[in-house]
Amino acid sequence: MKIPFATVHASSPGGLAARVGKFVLPNRKPIQTPHYITITSRGAVPHISPDIVRNSTSIGSLYVGLEDFLDKAPQSLPVLQIPQSHPHESRLRKFIAAQDDDVLILGARRAQPVITPQSNTADAVAVITSAGSWVLEHTKWLDMIHKLRPDVVIGFADLAYGHTPGVKRREKMVDRTHAYTRDATRYLYSESTDTSDNGSELKTPLYFAPILPLENTQQGLYLEDLEDELRPRVSGLALYESASLAIIPDSLSDLPRFCISEPWVPQEILRDVALGADLFTIPFIGDLSNGGIALDFIFTPSATPEQQNEKRTPSAPKPLAFDLWNKSYSTDIVPISEGCQCYACQKHHRAYIHHLLSAKEMLAWSLLQIHNHHVMDQFFEAVRQSITNDTFEADVASFEREYESAFPKQTGQGPRIRGYSSYVSGAGEAKRNAPAYGRLNDAIEKYAESQQSSVATPDTNAEGLERHGFAEKSADL
Ligand SMILES: [Zn+2]
Repeated sequence: MKIPFATVHASSPGGLAARVGKFVLPNRKPIQTPHYITITSRGAVPHISPDIVRNSTSIGSLYVGLEDFLDKAPQSLPVLQIPQSHPHESRLRKFIAAQDDDVLILGARRAQPVITPQSNTADAVAVITSAGSWVLEHTKWLDMIHKLRPDVVIGFADLAYGHTPGVKRREKMVDRTHAYTRDATRYLYSESTDTSDNGSELKTPLYFAPILPLENTQQGLYLEDLEDELRPRVSGLALYESASLAIIPDSLSDLPRFCISEPWVPQEILRDVALGADLFTIPFIGDLSNGGIALDFIFTPSATPEQQNEKRTPSAPKPLAFDLWNKSYSTDIVPISEGCQCYACQKHHRAYIHHLLSAKEMLAWSLLQIHNHHVMDQFFEAVRQSITNDTFEADVASFEREYESAFPKQTGQGPRIRGYSSYVSGAGEAKRNAPAYGRLNDAIEKYAESQQSSVATPDTNAEGLERHGFAEKSADL
């Protein structure tokens, strides 16, 4: 099968090196790599409506977790009821109102999966839907891929979340994942037709095979099979930790490497890029927007290695972001980041966003999402430029000197958490939302006092209401 990925520039030959590439699917926006894939919640970019995504952001690729949609029995799932106008049309694309040229990547679980109370079984993965926990069988998953038709499928993997798996469990993880990859690629590409494209449309989703977050030796047989028998049917690799970048065999180095991990800071992303990562999911973009925190860093590529030496190191590292809940911004009428070309910075100022946050007005999160995604777009563009200039290593060192190594702590309250996000996996875990009705406790006390006073309370009877002068009780009753 044709691999939709080409390396444009690599800082050195072989696998473990930063590289600039192009991921191009027919009729879709090309993705220049390294880059990030935007995380969605139920198919939507959180806080941004599709028209704003189209007009005010550069978002062109979406990661969708199937578990977001599994809140009913499979036969009555709304996403599967969407009519197709031709057999290759994507029901998922129609359902989430994604643009025709957005790259749609579907995984069984969300980019930040919640730990499930159930364990995975021999032929199913435990998931958490908005209606509770569930197990998704591999055969059902394959059927849904067939019906939903995303552009790229992240293969089923038996992953252990929330604990370190023992030796026996690790063996099972590899055996099951190996079997899933074999069965899925057989199912998807069983027909001998050209599965990649006919020049205009992708007929079958491309398959990204998972690499388990285990050591090389533990998944040796699986990796060998990926290099050999499975190789023609695999179009990319999905990785769950940075260490996996080091165990990818050389013969698979022409496949795009998609890290579905949770980097904490941009410095961590840079380290993964240096190891050859091409695509990322970056949960901190949305998490910081929810926390009222605006990204404020710039990666600066040097034009030449000589120019690199001239870069000055600041006396104290600068913060990577700042907290717009802070009262000091209440009268600050400059853009979020000076010189930022995003819609939020062009049209509004810090004081306005501080006000929106204080008022719990959801426009605050929309504007922060636009800005934070834009900062990451600029970051990756500069990273690609730096690799092309062959100054990446020095530019990373300079970035690490220039900025603090952690984001500021969230101080303000984000939007109220709903559905699966509010799921508490352990008995000792605190509730995710602060009680919203705490301040009504005073009112309850007042109501109690009013039993003897002249104020009527909701729990009174007809006599009580009459006594308080609301209405007269009818004699007929
Ligand atoms: Zn901005």
